[in-house]
Formats: sequence, structure tokens, C-alpha cells
Amino acid sequence: MKMTKKGSVYKKNIYNLEKRNIVIGGAWPYANSSLHLGHLAALLPGDVLARYYRENGDNVIYVSGTDCHGTPITQRAKKEGRTAKEIAEEYHNEFAKTFKNIGFTYDLYGKTEDECHKRTVQKMLERMYKNGYIYEKADRQPFCDHCNRFLADRELTLTCPSCGKQSKGDQCDCGYIPTEEDLDGATCVECGEKVHLRDNKNLYLALSKLQPQIEEYFNKNSNNWRLNSKRETEKYLKEGLRDRAVTRDLDWGVDVTIPGYENKKMYVWIEAVLGYITMAQKYCAEKGLDWKNFWKNDESKIYMIHGKDNIIFHSIILPALLIAMNDNYKLPDVMISSEYLNIDYEKISKSKGNGITIDDMIKDYDVDTLRYFLIANGPEKRDSNFSINEYVTIHNSEITNKYGNLVNRTLNFKGLDCVPNGKMNPEIEKKIDKTYKEAGDDIENGEFKKATLAIMHLVEEGNKYYDSRKPWEQINNDEAEFNDTIYTCINLIANLSNLYEPFMPNSSRKIREYLGLEKGIWQKVIIKPNTKIADVKPLFARIVSDKLQYKC
Ligand SMILES: [Zn+2]
Ligand SMILES: [Zn+2]
Repeated sequence: MKMTKKGSVYKKNIYNLEKRNIVIGGAWPYANSSLHLGHLAALLPGDVLARYYRENGDNVIYVSGTDCHGTPITQRAKKEGRTAKEIAEEYHNEFAKTFKNIGFTYDLYGKTEDECHKRTVQKMLERMYKNGYIYEKADRQPFCDHCNRFLADRELTLTCPSCGKQSKGDQCDCGYIPTEEDLDGATCVECGEKVHLRDNKNLYLALSKLQPQIEEYFNKNSNNWRLNSKRETEKYLKEGLRDRAVTRDLDWGVDVTIPGYENKKMYVWIEAVLGYITMAQKYCAEKGLDWKNFWKNDESKIYMIHGKDNIIFHSIILPALLIAMNDNYKLPDVMISSEYLNIDYEKISKSKGNGITIDDMIKDYDVDTLRYFLIANGPEKRDSNFSINEYVTIHNSEITNKYGNLVNRTLNFKGLDCVPNGKMNPEIEKKIDKTYKEAGDDIENGEFKKATLAIMHLVEEGNKYYDSRKPWEQINNDEAEFNDTIYTCINLIANLSNLYEPFMPNSSRKIREYLGLEKGIWQKVIIKPNTKIADVKPLFARIVSDKLQYKC
């Protein structure tokens, strides 16, 4: 059946509701090193959600971008004799390519260096200032006479008063956090001169004042959050929110437009999270949509996708900024915060410099099964370990042997070049309906692992059905029975391509091409008899040896 956009299957989603407005914000990677499997594991749920809701016919805005500013980039730029902008640009281009290669379908992948992002966050800050949530405070901060500027804590070294070892200004390896007095006389990392404390003024976000509103927000919404988000946010709220500086003395970042602060830049933590809104605005402007239907609409649903090291920026800071603007913003509904992915028990972390990059992996392995593995065996609710052996096992014995084999032995049945004139087995049909409902609910609830289990269960039912029907015998004995078997299996496969589209988009696309289906939809499709079947090649190739060498 060649489906057209006018066909009845596109008219409604399975819930028979009007189209829903969905915002999905994927955390912004920092332009300081290549993307690792750990990033992929944390961000993949965003693409699964986006693909799923689009299959349902809902209005989806899925945005992210590169976090370009901050000290680590300026320090690195100085070391390498380049500009911070060059480094940020280089990583931005690399990230955009990597996300494309791994099948991410961002509607817009931008960057914080984008002029419209900068202009908008400046106006947002002005608004918070006018509303009294941003205020001025004088402070004493380390100043380097030689470099002629105030320094951030991490730009200092000192002898730790607690353990006596050489320590960084923000925190010693022994856990000691230096006090203001400790920093007086510390050494400038840049030039090696001693610094002294000097009066400085900065703007602060009055988080303490926003505490009651954040608590109310938390109590109303946190039932839809991952447990780690809930716990971490609760911990901060119990301790009492502390005001945070939003400006700093740096020459790389978004300019502050409030009078008296023209020489300062915004802290990354305040501007990057607002990128979910600036990018939604930019995308909507390009597409002739109204961004307010997404970010200022009580009916919309907003998902935040990130790793557990990023929780409070999404569960406390972003809502605080939106409340401080007092401009009818909808606050995020769902926090999908992943745990850590370990490789051989070693945490993948940028600062440690280990871990496998995504680009390394997809050079040697299958994009679809890598995505599948990181969802089905990924760090959804607890830290998980990544090993090549486990991945290869899932690729070969779950996906290739079960799903790939069902597709291959059905569509490649000897002599089969079109869909036979058979009847659909009612039991299998019922199971298909049930799987759409179950896996759909699971995905919406952020239970991605559970969704893959439900779909794999349907694959297994399909294989059981195939084996019990023995079409290789039926073809010689009873053509009508053979037709029913293959017709049922072909329709099962067409529906599996819909169900797997959010997880394994490349193989789903191939199945659609084989069966002449136009696009994936989250609803049962039934293919008409006599539909041509294109030349079918195996969906997955078995992996026979470990190709990738890596150090842990
Ligand atoms: Zn200096
Ligand atoms: Zn120490």
C-alpha cells in the first residue's frame, strides 16, 4: 500500500486527541572536547521522544546547541595561541556533524555565540533586573595586577591550608574549599604573579527570594521526574537556595547590557539554559510558527534531557530564570536526567580525558544497534557499564538473530516479490495494538528501556508464530495457509518498523523502502496484498570480531 498524506492513517494519533505541542530540550554540550558515549547515553532519550511524538503527528520542537563560552575555553585558547571563538566554532561544527551521524533529529542545533541568542538573553537579564530578581552586590575578589583583571577561583593556585599540597582555587583534591582569605596571596595561573583581594561588584540572581515559587513548582511537577532529579533538587531546596553571581570579569561571553556592567560577561550557567527558548524562537521564526504556543502555553509539554551532573541547572536554575522574568513562561514538566555510563567501571568524563568518542564508535559499529544498546542497557535509572563485548552480544543475538532474522526470513522468502493475498492473524494483530499502546505510554513517561522490552517481546512473538506455522512446509502443502503466515509476518514487520523508528531509525527506513511505506507513524498499518516488495538485504550484519581498541 502506497500511503499518501491524505490517507486516513494520518488524520489522528492513537489517543484521538488534538495535536499536542511538545518541547524537547537536549542539554548543551560544552565546546571543549569531543562527544563521548556518555554524552550520547544522556542525550539519546531526547531523540527517541522527538521521533516518537512526530510519528504521533504532534507538533514537536526539539532543540539544543553548543555551549561556547566560559573559562575552560579561554584558557585553552591562550595555551594553543588561538582565539576562544575559533575553538568554540571548531567544536560546534564537529558536534553538529556527530549528532547528524548518530541520527539526532534536532529541529535546530544552534550555539550560544549566535547573535540572536545573545541579544535575547541580554533582554531577558534586563527584565529580571527590572523585576528585582537580579541585584548588585559588592565583593572582594582576587585581582592580578600583572594581568590587570579579576580572576575566577579556578584561575588560581595556592598551598592548601588543610593538607599542605598545591591546590586549585576552587577546590583542593582533599576536598577543602578555600575561603576568601585563603585566596589573598594565591598565584595567578596565567602569569605566576601573586594576586590580592580587591573590591569588585557583580550582579546576583536572588535565588533565595525565589525559593517559595521553586518549591511550589517542585511539589507540583516532580512526580514526573527521574528519581535522581527529584532527590538532588530536594536536597538543594532543603539546604536553602543561595544567590548566585550572574556576571563575571572575562573577555569571552555574552556582554552584560545593564549600566555599570558593560565590561563584564554573563556566567555560562545563566545564558546557556535560556538557549532552549532562544532556539525555539529562532526555529519558529524560520518556520512561520508561534513559539509562544510552546513556551507560553499551559497545554504544552516540556521535556528536559540531560545527565545527572546537570540536574539543578534544569530543575532549579531554568525555572528560577523563567519565574524571575514574570512573563507567562511555562515551566519544564519532565526531567529526564540519566545516570552515568561507565566504561569498564571508569566514569567517562571530559576532565579525565578518557572514554570512547561517538565518532570512534560509529566508524566501526552499527548506528542503530549502538542507539538501541544505550537505551536498552543504558544508564536510565542507575549507572551502567559499557563494554564492547556486551554491545556485540546484543547486536548479534538480540537484534540480528531475532529482529533481523524475522525480517530477512519473511521478506526474503524464496520467490516472494509481492505481499501475498492472505489474512492477518487476529492474535498477532491484537499484540501489535497492545504494543503501540504500551510502548507509547512508556516512552511518554521516560521509561525507554521498558518500551524496548515491549517491542522486543513482539519480535519474539513474531518468531514463535513463524516457527509454529512452518511456512517452508506450508508453501508446498497449503498455499492459503502460507499466504496467511507471510501476510501476517509482513504486516508485523511493517509495524515493527514504526515501533522501532525512535530507537533504530536506519533499519526502520530500510523496511519502509522495502514495503513502499512513506513514513513512520505511531499507529497500526496494514499493507494491501499485491504490494511490491523491493530487493531486500539483511538489515544487520553480524559482528565477528572486536575491531575497536580502546584504553580504559
Ligand atoms: Zn596574572
Ligand atoms: Zn588540600
